[in-house]
Amino acid sequence: MTRHTLSLSIWLLACAPAEAPTTAPDPCTDCLYGEVELDPALLAAEMDKADGDPCAAYPGGPLRADSLLVLLNRDEGQQLAEDAQPPDLVPIDPVLMVAGRQGLARAHVRAAYRALADAALAEEGFDFKVRSAYRSYQTQCFTFDYWVRVKGLAHASRYSAQPGRSQHQLGTTLDVTCEAWSWDLVPEVGQTPEAAWLFENAWRFGFTLSYPEGAESITGYGYEPWHFRYIGVEAAAEMHEAELIQERYLRACQAQDPTLSCPEELIAPLTPNFEFIGAPCGSDADCVGAGEGAVCLTDRPGGMCSKPCTRLCPDQEGASGTFCVADAVEVDATPATTGLCHGRCDHDLYGESGCREGYACVVGQRPSEGGAGAVCLPL
Ligand SMILES: [Zn+2]
Repeated sequence: MTRHTLSLSIWLLACAPAEAPTTAPDPCTDCLYGEVELDPALLAAEMDKADGDPCAAYPGGPLRADSLLVLLNRDEGQQLAEDAQPPDLVPIDPVLMVAGRQGLARAHVRAAYRALADAALAEEGFDFKVRSAYRSYQTQCFTFDYWVRVKGLAHASRYSAQPGRSQHQLGTTLDVTCEAWSWDLVPEVGQTPEAAWLFENAWRFGFTLSYPEGAESITGYGYEPWHFRYIGVEAAAEMHEAELIQERYLRACQAQDPTLSCPEELIAPLTPNFEFIGAPCGSDADCVGAGEGAVCLTDRPGGMCSKPCTRLCPDQEGASGTFCVADAVEVDATPATTGLCHGRCDHDLYGESGCREGYACVVGQRPSEGGAGAVCLPL
């Protein structure tokens, strides 16, 4: 609970309205089923006042979040497990988000979205931003629970995905919007040139529309022209070629339809980066002086003492040379991480300062008297 409260406090600071509404307007009067999220401020208020765990009422399903082609829908057994969390969530660069919003996505999805947004801007001048990205099982519990209390179970099932059924839990699904849509998510935006461009082109970048117009009886969801799920570039191309909607395509893949190849995109695993200005070592015993929890990384030439560092780097666009330094614990991150991404001082690249703007080169004695090391730290 503490972790959620902390992370939501940050959202609150970023975009709290003057007064959090106590009830939300009915967002959907005639659609079958939607994925309406709560305003971040309202969600934070719900989490703060909750006693007990709303997830206790929702046992979750059997599915994991690592396959790009996993089928999620209202059928029994097609739900994600409570602890199903994608392995490589990273923050989405603020310039790709609607102002004041924060979001997480799988690393390769973030890169694919950047390519899509760049192409939309270059080809048509459209300025797409992400309004909503990864949502944890727990977030969905609070959201769904809120709607159950406000509207009752039957209505809640129309407005909001039950925990484990939301594609947003995959870390591959983005709700996108733009200024021409007043940064909103309503079915009417499906009539705009911006939506037409997305429908025509999103597959080139691996994204597919999950809930098309007129497909409610197949998907069980109302029309959501803003909700795109990344399934991989080759799979999206095959789906496009076969003229299938996403639900039909994923069902066919699950049934091993022989007319489809259903390519699973290979994702290079992002692993925690253990680099740290540490001392040469032969075993953990040599690293006692490097601080609590320090270990010897024997896969480095001569060994290297390091504290475990679980931040995935780079964690921002345009910071490809960064690595994890075990200098912080971020308890409000999802997942909780140790360390921050920093770059090495590079005087060839950055001249006298050795670091990009906003950072300073700090030369420090390595722990265990292993000589000096230099790293860029924020000013
Ligand atoms: Zn969505």
